[in-house]
Amino acid sequence: MFKDLKKVELHLHLDGSIRITTAEEILQQKDLRKEMIVDSNSHSLKDYLTKFNLPISIMQTKDNLTRVSKELMEDLDKDNVIYAEIRFAPNFHTKKGLSLDEVVKAVLAGIQNSKVKANLILCMMRGDSFLANKKIIDLAIKYKNKGVCGIDLAGDEASYPTSLYKDLFNYAIANKVPFTIHAGEAGTLTDIDNAIKYGANRIGHGIKAVEDENLLGTLRKNKIPLEICPTSNVQTHAVSSYQNHPIKKLKDKDILITINTDNRTVSNINLNQEYELLYKYFGFNKEDFIKFNRTAIEYSFLTKEEKEKLQKEIV
Ligand SMILES: [Zn+2]
Repeated sequence: MFKDLKKVELHLHLDGSIRITTAEEILQQKDLRKEMIVDSNSHSLKDYLTKFNLPISIMQTKDNLTRVSKELMEDLDKDNVIYAEIRFAPNFHTKKGLSLDEVVKAVLAGIQNSKVKANLILCMMRGDSFLANKKIIDLAIKYKNKGVCGIDLAGDEASYPTSLYKDLFNYAIANKVPFTIHAGEAGTLTDIDNAIKYGANRIGHGIKAVEDENLLGTLRKNKIPLEICPTSNVQTHAVSSYQNHPIKKLKDKDILITINTDNRTVSNINLNQEYELLYKYFGFNKEDFIKFNRTAIEYSFLTKEEKEKLQKEIV
């Protein structure tokens, strides 16, 4: 129903989106679905994150990094995605000796020259040291306007609150690196509040904000959109079911919304299916999705000129 609609995706993890057939081919193993897709044994974000172990073990060579990135671009094209910001944590891909530079270059080689326009968001990880995360910001500074458009903070939100990373965000601001922060998924309202205070341009998930009118007011006032990934939110038990997802409430309260898959493989979903589910459970229509995609372009980490060009493509 929404297949032909041109789409924008801002919250998409590379390591959570590698094709199962590719993993099976590289590892010469069969039936890896169970290890790569979330199942009913997952009760939290922490459980969900275990599904990244296998893909990350594969993504340790330049060739494999380039291949999975290139294939993701092909998959995005099938969904009619015209622009994507793809994120990953470079520090995860140095286990077999690749340097951080080599990791970024290998992924860039996979996404550039694709039919779909894309940029990279480099993830700092909750639990990593200050120095390890600072190196990610330095990497983003080095590759700014060369395929890297910003940074993120990802990982186990419940164990590592956003407040631990305040100085890193100050460093990012001082160096004009825009950022989004995963907050209000498994964490608390304070995590979202802090993400806004620290200068986040967007919030990854942020759905918990629905519980607090003051926080909703702050999101509206500061024009901070939420990168909402409904299926993933159900799977990490951030919400109890799809029909109980607060996306409609957030929309009705004039919160800026973008629609995303989070992880195509781990969540076993594509963007078109996500739209279909939102139609099924909340009756969102084509006009709603066009609005969400326009919001995604407006709050993407692209230049003003690039945004204007993309807005013209959205019908
Ligand atoms: Zn995410």
